[in-house]
Amino acid sequence: MEQIIRIAVQKSGRLSDDSLSLIKECGIKFYNGTGKLKSTATNFPVEFLFLRDDDIPGYVADGVADLGIVGENELVEKDKDVLTLKKLGFSKCRLSLAIPKGEEYPGIHYFQGKNIATSYPKILGDYLQSQQIKAEIHEISGSVEIAPSIGLAEGICDIVSSGSTLLMNGLKEVEEIFKSEAVLIGNQDMADWKKAIVDKLLFRINAVQKGKSNKYVLMNVPNSSISRVIELIPGMRSPTILPLAQEGWSSVHSVLSEDQFWENIEELRAAGAEGILVVPIEKMVI
Ligand code: ATP
Ligand code: MG
Repeated sequence: MEQIIRIAVQKSGRLSDDSLSLIKECGIKFYNGTGKLKSTATNFPVEFLFLRDDDIPGYVADGVADLGIVGENELVEKDKDVLTLKKLGFSKCRLSLAIPKGEEYPGIHYFQGKNIATSYPKILGDYLQSQQIKAEIHEISGSVEIAPSIGLAEGICDIVSSGSTLLMNGLKEVEEIFKSEAVLIGNQDMADWKKAIVDKLLFRINAVQKGKSNKYVLMNVPNSSISRVIELIPGMRSPTILPLAQEGWSSVHSVLSEDQFWENIEELRAAGAEGILVVPIEKMVI
């Protein structure tokens, strides 16, 4: 039998587009027809399962899938024994407590003895315990924001990204209790041949992530300034220097983080650099 591993990804929702983009950026090709629940890659030994995100931690813990991409909120809430292999940097959000806009908020003891509606009873329960607050947790699976207005609860604990859904429902955010982003998780007892495939995938994910956080930068520099410019943009091993057709000038190429580039831009220009180009990097293997 052909040896392939299985990766569980969200079928449709706020994780799916970025999960599939990451897989494509890793050079893995597959057919993703609408409504398909399974798909095998054509150029990498992996099969995809398209699932609801709630089910992903459990499937990975049971070994139905070897890997999964899921939000940390869902991972911690489901409390399954899996390995967290890599933070993926997308689907960033937070879980927060919110109360009706007009209410005064004196601090976390506001929630003492109150009813709180949430889809995250474990994360909320752990948080309240850590704060020594006793409250009634009312678990509901969706549309948590309407709970206060229909008299179901006095506060809520839910995912917030911009806060606009809260505002629309007459609520205000009062405590952030958990920060989340998408993570790659793995089964704890994978066979060695599976681990070898996972390592190959992680190598590619690292190359994609490094590429994203760095830029390829090219600029024209008068030869008299080259040593100053090299100090400002040292690059991976060292910058590339190519002579321009015009005497006395060179083209300097380097790789640096975008932040580093903006920090040094004034000094680069002061050193005489001009015609500066910043180019995205697709993958980077150091
Ligand atoms: P499913 O049908 O698969 O159960 P869902 O409705 O539970 O989907 P989504 O709304 O698609 O979940 O969100 C999936 C995950 O994306 C969340 O668990 C969270 O980690 C993250 N997420 C949720 N809301 C946002 C947001 N506004 N911005 C960024 N990430 C978010
Ligand atoms: Mg879900």
